[in-house]
Amino acid sequence: MGDARAVEGTERIVKKIFVFCNQKNCDGSGDWHNMVAIAEDGTCLAGHVCSNHGWAWNDMGFTSDWKRDRYDKHYPDGWELEWVENTNLETHAGIQLAFERNRARRPELA
Ligand SMILES: [Zn+2]
Repeated sequence: MGDARAVEGTERIVKKIFVFCNQKNCDGSGDWHNMVAIAEDGTCLAGHVCSNHGWAWNDMGFTSDWKRDRYDKHYPDGWELEWVENTNLETHAGIQLAFERNRARRPELA
């Protein structure tokens, strides 16, 4: 009723899955980078140790089908990967909300 733009099925909100390098102050150099994929609802979906920071694009499924079975299982209606630079973690509202939701699952850590 009312807004024709909101007719069911014509709009879909794509769920976000954030990927970041969980290596403090990573500047992309050095060996071994611990990549993490966390859903916007706070579920940690995948992790990967990359021998090189740049491999994240392949190893976390941006440019390959790696890990995508896990993403599909969690969000069968669709998802979108978003890379978050290590230096932007503190100011990225979406990933901060995901972290908050993740912590809320374990109150002793909040
Ligand atoms: Zn890194």
